[in-house]
Amino acid sequence: MSGSCCATGPGQDFASGTNGMPTRSDAEVAAIFATHCQPCEHYDPAAQTCTVCGCRVRQSGAALLNKIKMATEHCPVGKW
Ligand code: SF4
Repeated sequence: MSGSCCATGPGQDFASGTNGMPTRSDAEVAAIFATHCQPCEHYDPAAQTCTVCGCRVRQSGAALLNKIKMATEHCPVGKW
């Protein structure tokens, strides 16, 4: 476990990538990405990563690879 806010650790459910955690719907994820992350000055499009928290943020994809998908996670600077 790296200590990153979206890191995975022992016992992680790799099949779903959620480890039983609540997730946002695909529509919610797409809306958050398009509205906040994609135009954000902290978004690195090449790495598909937020440069503030270091987490992967994407338009779609499993929670294992997308912080936005995790309903318990939020933007580190309060945009969502
Ligand atoms: S998580 Fe927040 S700070 Fe990071 S890229 Fe998205 S909107 Fe910007």
